[in-house]
Amino acid sequence: MEFLMNRKKIIKKARRIVIKIGSAVLAGDLHSGVDESLFSNLAKDISHIIKDKRKVILVSSGAIAIGMKRLGLKEKVKSIPEKQAVAAVGQGSLMALYDRAFGTEKIKVAQVLLTHNDLSDRQRFLNAKNTLQTLLKYDAIPIINENDTVAVDEIKFGDNDHLSALVTNLVEADMLIILTDIDGLYNKDPKRYRDAELIPVVDDIDKFISAAGGAGGIYGTGGMQTKLEAAKKAAHFGVPTIIANGREKSVLKKIFSGQDMGTLFLPLEDRLTSRKHWIAFTARPAGSITVDDGARNALLKKGKSLLPSGIKGMEGEFDSGDVVKCTGPDGSEIGRGIVNYSSNELKKIKGLKTSEIEKALGYKYFDEVIHRDNLVIR
Ligand code: GLU
Repeated sequence: MEFLMNRKKIIKKARRIVIKIGSAVLAGDLHSGVDESLFSNLAKDISHIIKDKRKVILVSSGAIAIGMKRLGLKEKVKSIPEKQAVAAVGQGSLMALYDRAFGTEKIKVAQVLLTHNDLSDRQRFLNAKNTLQTLLKYDAIPIINENDTVAVDEIKFGDNDHLSALVTNLVEADMLIILTDIDGLYNKDPKRYRDAELIPVVDDIDKFISAAGGAGGIYGTGGMQTKLEAAKKAAHFGVPTIIANGREKSVLKKIFSGQDMGTLFLPLEDRLTSRKHWIAFTARPAGSITVDDGARNALLKKGKSLLPSGIKGMEGEFDSGDVVKCTGPDGSEIGRGIVNYSSNELKKIKGLKTSEIEKALGYKYFDEVIHRDNLVIR
């Protein structure tokens, strides 16, 4: 009972909602055509949400799935050029379907294609943020997808669950909904166990992440694991996530009328600011710094900055201003932060006292290699 009350409160409060729609929801199985009614139902549901003075941002997969259907391909495409070509065919069709469905509801849509590089760079992240804010001001619904036609592994988000979690920060959302082809998170694999039960609410995502297995289906990339990881990243931004079945009729309408649908993942109270969330999850680390036990302790337990004296070594080439990983002597990650010195400079000052920096380099910018304000413990 208390849970339902909380859920209602969370939903009532949500004003800016990121809705991620998986390929399996939009495209069904390999042999069916594209079901346009799915798009029109979605648009109808979303028009209700918007009328309630809420903003919606869609993260939609489906380019590859719809491209495969358009090209009559029956097997999952494997090579990068094939995937890119199929996505190029599908992305246009996908937007045409959304444009028609939302057009009927008199709602404008906007295509936004991103690669990880677009968000990993702080300035480009802020530019994308401004564009999205402006689209929302125009009451256009941004429909975001990975820019599959140009993205190769090094610049990829990997899967759209991950992308949707990063978008919650990008648009300063207060709720994430992930629509997939199962009802939510179960206590065991519902495809294998008939007595599997749906978990209505989760407050400790970590407990489930290690247990969730399984890759995505024939079209998509993610599975339950990537959805849980996305929910965890959203939780760090103070954002609750609902994973629900996008094939259930009027699922969004039901969620927003307070019905108990899917699994709700509660946010963390101790939320990261947008900038720290970006450091922790969006920026791609340019290298890593290994610290000794004393520094590890100071970072983890005492809330201190990282000084040169605690540094044992580093990997990768990075400049001052880049985001790097900090690892303990055993290689496990402690956190991520923005460095004040490049890898070349660090080679000269690692292990030194702060009073020795100037002598070693001939100048000194800062005492700290990573200032506490630019460091996020993970
Ligand atoms: N961007 C891919 C597509 O539109 C989907 C990626 C994913 O499934 O996560 O087909």
